[in-house]
Amino acid sequence: MRPRVLIIEDERAVADGIVYALRTDGCEPLWAPTGGQGLALLAEGDVALVVLDVGLPDCNGFDLCRQIRHGHDVPIIFLTARNEEMDRVVGLEIGADDYVTKPFSPRELSARVRAVLRRARAHPPAAPDQGAPALPFEVDSRRRSIAFFGHPLDLTRTEFRLLEVLLRHPGWVYSREQLMELVWDDPGSAVDRTVDSHVKSLRAKLRAIRPASEAILTHRGQGYSLQERW
Ligand code: CA
Repeated sequence: MRPRVLIIEDERAVADGIVYALRTDGCEPLWAPTGGQGLALLAEGDVALVVLDVGLPDCNGFDLCRQIRHGHDVPIIFLTARNEEMDRVVGLEIGADDYVTKPFSPRELSARVRAVLRRARAHPPAAPDQGAPALPFEVDSRRRSIAFFGHPLDLTRTEFRLLEVLLRHPGWVYSREQLMELVWDDPGSAVDRTVDSHVKSLRAKLRAIRPASEAILTHRGQGYSLQERW
């Protein structure tokens, strides 16, 4: 089934470009020129992802994002016009899944849409696993923050995603190729060594809190896993 992608963007020309690129890439785009119309389309259901412009005629994209977040778990990609807007999105107080800065190419946006949809499909919101052993991590997906033994970690976007992926299945060994696919928006641009260097910096942050614990295990020739016994 073609995933429905809701585009909330008041500039017709920008929206048209996105609609065309998404349709070419196998999505079913819906266009709303105002926040109010966007919410109405979202309420009809079946929206797999929202592309949300920050500057809308009837509301602010950040406020709209919060409103959407009250009732929906749908992934959101922001369209931002200025660097300071981007900083707010990257600050991730907002709970966006990704962003692009204008001007952007619709094809680039469409690639990001596919990456976010792929991640969402690979990791649907899971029901709490009652039998799982307690881990010393607390993930706050909305704020994009993870605490380790009660200490909030200061993570980059990539480190956050990497740790989040490993945390989904403690003990599972992920190959570098799998991590690239799940963590990076553009897996083609990431090389093996990139995975290693992000694992290294993530480990350093974890060790700063618990020097004696090895949270991420290396499996030679295979990849990485999260320690499941604490
Ligand atoms: Ca706008």
